Amino acid sequence: MKNRLRAWMNRAAGWLFPRGARCLCCGDPRRASEEDCLCDSCREKLKDWRVPAGACNRCLSPVTRGKPCAFCGSAMMRPIEAVFAPYRFGGETRQLIHALKFDACEEAVPLLAQAMADALPRRDFDCIVPVPLHPTRLRQRGFNQSLLLGRALSSRTGVPVMELLRRDRYRVPQSRLPMKRRADNVRGAFSCMGDPAGKRVLLLDDVRTTGSTACACAQALLDAGAESVCLCVSAVVYRKARGK
Ligand SMILES: [Zn+2]
Ligand SMILES: [Zn+2]
Repeated sequence: MKNRLRAWMNRAAGWLFPRGARCLCCGDPRRASEEDCLCDSCREKLKDWRVPAGACNRCLSPVTRGKPCAFCGSAMMRPIEAVFAPYRFGGETRQLIHALKFDACEEAVPLLAQAMADALPRRDFDCIVPVPLHPTRLRQRGFNQSLLLGRALSSRTGVPVMELLRRDRYRVPQSRLPMKRRADNVRGAFSCMGDPAGKRVLLLDDVRTTGSTACACAQALLDAGAESVCLCVSAVVYRKARGK
C-alpha cells in the first residue's frame, strides 16, 4: 500500500512539475539535457560502477587470475549460459534502481536500458523474458520494473518481449532474506505459461544478487523446452562466490 501510494505520488509530481526537475541520484536540480535523469556529477560517478574488465566473462563475478570462477562452478550458473550487465550494484546504480523500483521513477528506464543494450555483445535471441512479479506484489507496486526495462531493451535491440513466466508462490521478498535462504525461497516458484520450446531466451531482471531468482526462472524455461537462457540485468552484486 505504501509503495502504491508513493508510486502514485511520484506520478502526480511528474504531472505537476516539469519532467525530471531533479537528479534521480542526488536530488540536485540537474542536468545535462532535457531528457537526462542525472546531474553531470552523478553521470560521471556512474562510470565508476561499470563491471570491471577483469570480471569473469561468463558470469561477471570477480575472479582471481589463474583460478576457475567459483560462481560459474556453483549451482546458480548451471542453467544460465551467460550474464550480461553494464554495472555493479552500489552507489549511483543502487540509487537509480531503487528510484525506479521503489519510487516509480520511470525516467531511470531509458538510461538503464541503453546501458544494458550497450553491454549486450550479441542480439541473436528469440525473445526477452522479464522476471515476473507475483500478482499480489504487482498490485502493491503497480508495475513490474523488469518488464519496463525489457520493453525498453526490446525497442533498442529488436528482440521481442514475451511474458512466458508466472510467479506462482507469494513468499517473503528476496531482499528481506539472508543470502543463504534465498535459493530455497524461490526454488520452484516460477512456471512457464507460454511455449519457449527451441527458443534462445534472454531473461531480464533489474539486479542479480545471489542469482537464485534467475536460476529458478532459467530452470523453469529449460524444463519447458527452451534451447538456452542468458541473463541480462542492469547491475550485478559484485562479490566473490564462496569457493567450493
Ligand atoms: Zn546527481
Ligand atoms: Zn564466472
